[in-house]
This record gives sequence, structure tokens and C-alpha cells, in this order.
Amino acid sequence: MGGGGKKKNKRTKSKSKKLSGEHALASRYVNEWILHASYASPPPPPSAAAAAAAADEFLPPEAPRVPDRVVFELHSHSKHSDGFLSPSALVERAHRHGVKVLALTDHDTMDGIPEAMQAALKFGMRIIPGVEISTLYSSREIPGNGEPVHILAYYGTCGPAPYEELDILLSNIRDGRYLRAKNMLLKLNRLRMPVKWETVVKIAGEGVAPGRLHLARAMVEAGHVENLKQAFSKYLYDGGPAYAMGSEPSAETVVQLISRTGGISALAHPWTLKNPVAVIRALKSTGLNAMEVYRSDGKVAGFSELADTHGLLKLGGSDFHGRGGQDESELGSVGLPTASIYEFLKLARPVWSNAMRDILYNFAEDPSEANLEKMLKFGVRNKLNGYSSSSCVGGDAVDLCPSSWLATHEDIELENIRLKLASNNLVIR
Ligand SMILES: [Zn+2]
Ligand SMILES: [Zn+2]
Repeated sequence: MGGGGKKKNKRTKSKSKKLSGEHALASRYVNEWILHASYASPPPPPSAAAAAAAADEFLPPEAPRVPDRVVFELHSHSKHSDGFLSPSALVERAHRHGVKVLALTDHDTMDGIPEAMQAALKFGMRIIPGVEISTLYSSREIPGNGEPVHILAYYGTCGPAPYEELDILLSNIRDGRYLRAKNMLLKLNRLRMPVKWETVVKIAGEGVAPGRLHLARAMVEAGHVENLKQAFSKYLYDGGPAYAMGSEPSAETVVQLISRTGGISALAHPWTLKNPVAVIRALKSTGLNAMEVYRSDGKVAGFSELADTHGLLKLGGSDFHGRGGQDESELGSVGLPTASIYEFLKLARPVWSNAMRDILYNFAEDPSEANLEKMLKFGVRNKLNGYSSSSCVGGDAVDLCPSSWLATHEDIELENIRLKLASNNLVIR
């Protein structure tokens, strides 16, 4: 931010005047967090010619200035689950729609995060590593009769700590999805709507656990239904004739796991639940942090009050899949109030800092190649091109490696970690 610009830029009067003190504070806090990210990861210079042209025009690349409205998109899907776009294409589209901070929240996998992080560098955007976890809620009164509940998890730049705990949970869920898809296929066959397993797998894409949407697409392809909507409304809806239950973990377990691994949990689309109040009450008591309340059609009423009653943060996102079609909300279309983003970051940043500190300490204890690999899991490697653990090990590691991305400062006391690394190094030598 220049600060020396004489012309018009004295102050954008009308708007800032109206901001209440509180709002201004929240807005500054949020913007500073985003700007840190832009400074920490400046977009790479394109080509020499383009750079020269840019220099002529005196344009800073993706200028890190405070935007009027900060667009956070906290719910989106890529090809790694049932979305249609690759993570890079998703990031690019989000950028075109003014999104500054994007949470990629694929179903039960974080495999798309590294690619999204890499793509975001180009636009000076920030990625929040996220995941939407499939769970089941069973009320104590009616045991065994579980209701599917989706829980969003938001993590810091280095992801969950320890990563393994979440990873095992997610891969178990994915394995269960294969079984479930096969059961639904069986039911479709019985309903005389044969769909080939190979087709479903092909639609899902390599390594992607098939879900209902993939089955629905196969049904459209085979001509059993006219469109996806019909596939769901007639056959695949919860409890429908071709529906099969998965083997998801309980919602309570998942909420606890998210907070144990340094994440923030949010109940996704509570308006789809049969009994939202019971679910919210049960999950709040196990540590749920937030719930989705805002939608692009702005319907927040009852749920906003529910969130207030239970002391939950109010979030929301488009749940963009890239299906096309008119009823799909665009990336960035859910206008989150600055105050909500502020509350979210205020809660999340210390949690994320702790997780990062754990990861760093862990590395300092055992600065091995394998541990470095783990630490750089979410694409940080790309910013550290050329560094191997041998060039990272030692007192310099904090300067050379983690700090280059931790410069997105989550206020970690690096000094202790530095000492630890140095002492460890002495032992190694
Ligand atoms: Zn969902
Ligand atoms: Zn979703």
C-alpha cells in the first residue's frame, strides 16, 4: 500500500464515514489478515515482456490494496469429490468472481488442497484448507436411526495436526462410500434401471469415491431419468428407493476430532436436516464452533436465531459444485458480513497457530525427510522450491523454510523452535 498517492486517494469518504467503530475495527482486522497473505505469497512475475509492460504502466501485480468488500467463499467442491472443476479451475473462477479467500471443502478428502494452494499464488488469493465430512447423527431417543449430517472443517495453512488422525478418518469414510455406491447400484438394478459400475467409476474420476451425484449422472447418461434433479427427487433422496446408508462416523466424534486436530467446525446447510435443533444442541455440547446461516438467496431467518441461541458463529458459502444450471449459486455469491468473518478469524487464528506450532515442534524434534514431507503436505513445498530437508535442517530451517509461509503470521513464537532445531542439529552432527 503506497500511502503517498496524492490524487483522489485522500480518503474514500462516504463509505468509511458510515462505518461504526466496531465495523471499522473488524474490517481492518480481516483485511490485514488477507494482506499478510498477499505479501507472503506475491504472484510470480509472468514473463519478462509482460513484466516490462506492467512496469511501464506502473501497475503492481494484483495490487495488495484494501478492497471495499472482502469476499470469502467458505464452501466449495472440486473434482476431487463431486465437483466438476479441477482445483485450479475452481480457484481461477473464484478469482474472477472477486473471491479473496477460498475454502476448498471437498467431501471427505483434502487431496485437492495442494493444487488449489498452488493456483491461488498466481492471484494473490488465500486458500483455507477445508473438508466437508460425512457423518451420521443418531438421537439418543431413536437409536440406530441415523440422519446424515455434513460437517465442515477449516484448518490453518499447514492443515490438521496431527494430520494422520484426520487422514485415517477420511479414508475410512471414502472406503465406506464405495460400498454404499455399490449398494445403491444394486437397488437401481432391482428397480430395473441398470447402471454399470464402470460408468459410475468413470464419472467419479480416478481415485474419487463415488457418491450419489455420480450415480445420478450415470442414470441420466443411461436415459433412466431426464436430469439430475429427477434422479434425486425420485430415487436417490435420503431414504429413497435407491438410497443406501453409508457407514459414516458419528457427528459428535467428528466435531471432537476437528477441534483436537486444530480445526474449526461448522455445521453445513442445517436447513436440510429433519431435526436441526436436536443436531445443533447435541453438537454444540461436543464443541461445534459454527453453523452455516447465510445463503446466496439470503434466507437466514430461523437459522440465524438458532445460531445466536446456541452461541455458534454464523458462516455460509455457496456450496459450489460447477454443475451448471440456473439453480446453482455462484462462487462468492454469499455475502458474509464482515463482522462474521472477523469473529471467525478471531476464533480460528489462535487454533491454527497452535496446530502450526505443533507441526513445527514435531519437525524440530525429528527433522527428517519424511517429516518435512508431512509438514509441506499442503503445497507449501511449491513455495520452497529446491529446499530439501538437508538444506532445511539446522538453525536456518525456521528462516529458510517454514517462516517463508508462516510469514502469513499466525503469531507463532519462532524463537523456541529455532533453539530446538539448533540443539537438535548439534546432536545430529
Ligand atoms: Zn453438504
Ligand atoms: Zn458441500
